[in-house]
Amino acid sequence: MSTLSISGLTASVVGKQILNGIDLTVSSGEVHAVMGPNGAGKSTLSAVVMGKPGYEVLGGSVTLDGTDLLALPAWQRAQAGLHLVSQYPSEVPGVKLDQVMAEALRARGRSTDGLEEWLEAEAERIGFAPELLHRALNVDLSGGEKKRNETLQLAVLQPRIAILDELDSGLDIDALRDCARRIEAMTDEGLGALVITHYNRLLEELRPDVIHILVKGRIVASGGPELADQLERDGYAAFSDDADGELASGSAAGSGSGSSLDDLFRL
Ligand code: ADP
Ligand code: MG
Repeated sequence: MSTLSISGLTASVVGKQILNGIDLTVSSGEVHAVMGPNGAGKSTLSAVVMGKPGYEVLGGSVTLDGTDLLALPAWQRAQAGLHLVSQYPSEVPGVKLDQVMAEALRARGRSTDGLEEWLEAEAERIGFAPELLHRALNVDLSGGEKKRNETLQLAVLQPRIAILDELDSGLDIDALRDCARRIEAMTDEGLGALVITHYNRLLEELRPDVIHILVKGRIVASGGPELADQLERDGYAAFSDDADGELASGSAAGSGSGSSLDDLFRL
């Protein structure tokens, strides 16, 4: 049994406070959804928890089974059992997917015996073309192929807790269903998932135990699946009034993240 515990987390980027005190606990086998409008701080939350450089933690704590993740670089957080599926997976020219997987398993002290067969079986299970296993990571892949690729990596690496940042952005309905069903099966086997989205569709496949609504860097409501139905009906505006106060402006301006090498986490 593993638990990711986020407590009182506040953080800023380029001097602007984006996260205003996040409390969230995800344990093995649970699916927690975080929903919120553009610019609410969803990607910032995933980046700060995973350890992406460029964000300043102002207060609070993030632990995985008691280990202080905020003290560790991203790769050690991954070794500790945390995994982030990026909203915009990075393209890495010259590095093949199967090589990445072998290296990642070795870094976790795990065997690579039978890896090729395993990758092929996983690829088939989620409809990922097997020839892409031997191509440069994410280079020239479609949006759907990238997310199938991310899902395949998740299945092989078997982290304790995964954060999915808008798995549903940039892929078609078939790919969405295939990825969501695979991840749902992982949660049945004990994966804890923090699922960031602003659409209901993903949650129809990946049924959350708890839904949290994030507005202006703060969780303004938490509840069962009925919250998603309420959102569908009333929109985020119904929750926004609760989020007033001295909060970040939460503009919808792009964060500049994209599929470039600049976006890779530093070692
Ligand atoms: P969401 O994922 O909920 O749409 P983000 O976490 O991407 O929101 O962004 C929250 C706010 O933080 C936005 O106002 C965004 O412009 C700002 N922001 C995020 N990352 C950066 C960055 N690297 N540089 C400047 N501003 C950023
Ligand atoms: Mg985002």
